[in-house]
Amino acid sequence: MKFVVIDGSLGEGGGQILRTSLSLSIITGKPFEIINIRAGRENPGLRPQHLASAHSAARISSACLEGAELGSLRLKFIPKEVEPGEYRFDVSTAGATSLVLQTIFFPLALNGKSGSIANIRGGTHVPLSPPFEFLEEEWIPFMRRIGFQAEVKLKRAGFYPKGGGEIISSIEPIKVILPLVIKERGNLIKVIGISAVGDLSRGVAERGKERLIQILDEYNICNQVESRDLPSFGRGAVVFLKAVFKNTTVCYSALGERGKRMEEVSEEASQKLFNFLKSDATVGENMGDQLLLPLALAHGNSFFKVPRITEHIKTNTEIIKKFLNEARIHFEGNEILVEGIVGSIDNSSL
Ligand code: ATP
Repeated sequence: MKFVVIDGSLGEGGGQILRTSLSLSIITGKPFEIINIRAGRENPGLRPQHLASAHSAARISSACLEGAELGSLRLKFIPKEVEPGEYRFDVSTAGATSLVLQTIFFPLALNGKSGSIANIRGGTHVPLSPPFEFLEEEWIPFMRRIGFQAEVKLKRAGFYPKGGGEIISSIEPIKVILPLVIKERGNLIKVIGISAVGDLSRGVAERGKERLIQILDEYNICNQVESRDLPSFGRGAVVFLKAVFKNTTVCYSALGERGKRMEEVSEEASQKLFNFLKSDATVGENMGDQLLLPLALAHGNSFFKVPRITEHIKTNTEIIKKFLNEARIHFEGNEILVEGIVGSIDNSSL
């Protein structure tokens, strides 16, 4: 059997190398072996979130897995047919539910013959991963814009370090991914803000809200800010901002932590948004790396601009090319051009 061999120490050397490989292995039907898993990180090898992603990917595709153990630096994955259905996955720690969903989403949508539901337990607000609001307000809307039919709901928040949250996503099968072309973002119409807490006094969320309104008013930005009390397993707080432009949206967030005032959380999230506003980008840098996989499979060429070409963007590009030999992703300055390789999703043409 011919395996695609992936070196997990490439570029960024993080978990995304594994997740992109799992998704593309199922979509293309190509088995893979990954070595040096997360070699670029302080705690290399499979952590609970990566293990949950590998097990979830194996469940939906009846794959054969070798080396799927905590700390393992090597994994073999041989996928079979995608089985749509109702699934429950559990990360068992505060590992990000959003990243598990992003792993199984594309195979279920592209290779599934009917709809699926994924119920995922774990962290919903975890540092260095997409928080739930990003999934709901940014990722899913972008996925719909390129032709996917899906929804995601928060059943319960799970903040770092306790986890225990739960998200539910419905994913319909689709045949064609549409390209995405966003040359200019257009005028900023408004900023939607959410200051939310879990198992903390509502007053904390209100303080985050007041500070956000103050900052946005100072810059004369039309804003709509609300405070929320999230059903939650443990304590935590998040400030989320969604900037709505004529042609695009961009989202940034910041998480609360012990000893960090909610006002500071609002300031941190706003600062990220202001950095974006200083650029001429049309897509946020995180969304940028997350769009590459589906757009490489799209029916036509895509174009967008990010604030900067991140290591995640470069590394994900390299991994995509390992599975999709004809994939062409070009960077020039902060511009990204993705040549979509297929018109309809048919394994034989990959
Ligand atoms: P590790 O870095 O420990 O290996 P990991 O598995 O979380 O862990 P990464 O390779 O760093 O993996 O990938 C993280 C993903 O989460 C990237 O796609 C990145 O864009 C995304 N991400 C990180 N922070 C945010 C955020 N605040 N909002 C949206 N997306 C985010």
